[in-house]
Amino acid sequence: MLVDSHCHIDFEEYSGRIPQILESMARNQVTHALCVCVNLTDFPRVLALAESHIQFFASVGVHPDQTENASPEISDLIERARQPKVVAIGETGLDYYRQSGDLEWQRTRFRTHIRAARECGKPLIIHTRDAGEDTLRVMREERADTIGGVMHCFTETQDVATAAMELNFHISFSGIVTFKNAVAIKEVAKSMPLDRMLIETDSPYLAPMPNRGKTNEPAWVRHVAEEIARLRGISLEAVAEATSANFFRLFAPIIYNKAL
Ligand SMILES: [Zn+2]
Ligand SMILES: [Zn+2]
Repeated sequence: MLVDSHCHIDFEEYSGRIPQILESMARNQVTHALCVCVNLTDFPRVLALAESHIQFFASVGVHPDQTENASPEISDLIERARQPKVVAIGETGLDYYRQSGDLEWQRTRFRTHIRAARECGKPLIIHTRDAGEDTLRVMREERADTIGGVMHCFTETQDVATAAMELNFHISFSGIVTFKNAVAIKEVAKSMPLDRMLIETDSPYLAPMPNRGKTNEPAWVRHVAEEIARLRGISLEAVAEATSANFFRLFAPIIYNKAL
């Protein structure tokens, strides 16, 4: 079995296509997918998907690229995180690639998410782009290690991966790891401990090879797993088993403990 730890299947491009998405997941042994919230306006849609399908989980958060949406209060996040199918806080973090100028508002918003996660006891989904050092600094200052979570769609250096793992975080690889020129990311995927690894699609973005350029979907997390298996010289089953167990241990400990 495989799990897509990060997708946005609540987006417009999937409306009316959920039955096909689920069929395609089933054909590829992708049993679950975490539908990640990017702003509070869309949260009801994300939650509805998770509540109406056993295959989906939800998160709550406001993405660092959301300039038009107000930053949430800690209480806004905690209240929504009370729903049992909401398994994480995020996505949150820092993005210095798409945003510029004085980004103190992004760091403040990030701190709010970390405080909410610590308070409600649910792990963090962290997005970081061109902001590795500041992301780690805020994580340390806010004691994000006490709750843990995942650095999603990892595109940073080996040093950032090591520091994040020291802070009790997992590293999640997207379709980027299948791209020929992603040499440094392939190296991290090859050498990092398997018990801290997650895999994801970040659908609708970043479709893996051989579907690069198309609208991504959770079923294609299989291609991410296949590439990691190839890089490490292990079986697809071994990657699937480890990353799925990591997912449930981190995000759904009740299910994980029941399965033991
Ligand atoms: Zn992201
Ligand atoms: Zn995302």
